[in-house]
Amino acid sequence: MTIPAFSERSDAYRAQLLDFMDARVYPAEAVYHEQMAAAGDPHVQPPILEELKAEAKGLGLWNLFHPHPQWGPGLANLDYAPLAEIMGRSEIAPEVFNCNAPDTGNMEVLTLYGTDEHKERWLRPLLAGQIRSAFAMTEPAVASSDATNITLSMRRDGDSYLLNGRKWFASNAMHPLCTVLIVMGKTDPEAATHRQQSMMVVPIDAPGVTVVRNLPVFGYQDREGHAEITFEDVRVPAVDVLAGEGEGFAIAQARLGPGRIHHCMRTVGMAERALELMCRRAVERTTFGKPLAARANIQDWIAESRIEIEMVRLLTLKAAHMMDTVGNRAAATEIAAIKVAAPEMALKLLDRAIQVFGGAGVTDDYPLASAYAHLRTLRLADGPDEVHKRSIARWELRRYAE
Ligand SMILES: Cc1cc2nc3c(=O)[nH]c(=O)nc-3n(C[C@H](O)[C@H](O)[C@H](O)COP(=O)(O)OP(=O)(O)OC[C@H]3O[C@@H](n4cnc5c(N)ncnc54)[C@H](O)[C@@H]3O)c2cc1C
Repeated sequence: MTIPAFSERSDAYRAQLLDFMDARVYPAEAVYHEQMAAAGDPHVQPPILEELKAEAKGLGLWNLFHPHPQWGPGLANLDYAPLAEIMGRSEIAPEVFNCNAPDTGNMEVLTLYGTDEHKERWLRPLLAGQIRSAFAMTEPAVASSDATNITLSMRRDGDSYLLNGRKWFASNAMHPLCTVLIVMGKTDPEAATHRQQSMMVVPIDAPGVTVVRNLPVFGYQDREGHAEITFEDVRVPAVDVLAGEGEGFAIAQARLGPGRIHHCMRTVGMAERALELMCRRAVERTTFGKPLAARANIQDWIAESRIEIEMVRLLTLKAAHMMDTVGNRAAATEIAAIKVAAPEMALKLLDRAIQVFGGAGVTDDYPLASAYAHLRTLRLADGPDEVHKRSIARWELRRYAE
């Protein structure tokens, strides 16, 4: 299979993004941390982010993820890959360019399945970066990696539905600008297994919605948060069911394809940054009369890291190209494969970089420790490794089933 070159548009965005990252984003990381510390609240919107968002938007470095020309630049997945990779290098960059999860996935869902009113009320302000959104599927009481297990009840009552249940890990729900949730639940427990679920658009301030707490990640209180939320007799008008009753499972599948590959593209970017930091540190620091970079084991780590990044990047580009040419469904094996391979590679690489940094590697003075914590969650979020491997093995074995 031949993967074509990136388009001229992609190359032009790439050059612009690289300049903006050097000039504005990397220098702003320290300011961001100072403003967050000064606020004394982990869930605030620091002014530096709004400043950078306005500048990025002014330069047209905005919504680059959006594949639909009516709502964004309409880049192919392949063309977006090198851009998302650059954004992945900094924890603050994805939001600066309005390309952060889970808003991107939610914006795609609203584009594909939202009514005109959903688009006006929620999609437009999301695309403008004025509000944020969360996606609530996982539940504490059931093994949610099998989405058929979810239990949140969506019971029809006249022109509306009553929602009752408990969700957790709704990322972004603690964000001060978060105003809307996309909630998955069960409308018909008697229907066929994959027709029982529906998705609804629910304002976060709807009566009966309670954000109970934020869930820390390895002790980090992420700014956007991962919320536990209860729903008690939350009344949702029937017009807010996305694509109709029973379509929840199908929408979840459609949402996760692009969302997963975007995570992987950004993960390659973070791995590149870790390798760069590791090399700089290895050249600078000397022990027992030689720089660390002169030691064979450190050179091995550096070489292996380069090899592993290139392998995962190529597989990611292949998956992106397949999504563009034969569709998300036909690319499912490749998407599942990179969803396993990218975090595994990046975690191995970050572990090496942390080791080369010594004690400094586990502090907040460098982005390695927080990147490690964040990337470790990717082995769970959007489907745990084992579920993706199960799918890959089933597709592989299918041809021998005769
Ligand atoms: C930081 C973070 C952010 C998240 N953001 C969101 C979000 O925004 N919205 C949302 O709805 N959810 C979110 N999640 C939840 C995430 O999608 C779930 O944690 C994940 O799907 C697994 O579900 P579970 O936690 O219920 O684990 P379970 O379903 O209980 O599974 C536990 C473990 O069992 C193993 N396992 C499962 N199936 C198999 C199998 N077939 N074979 C072998 N082993 C298996 C896996 O190792 C799995 O990790 C987030 C999670 C994290 C950590």
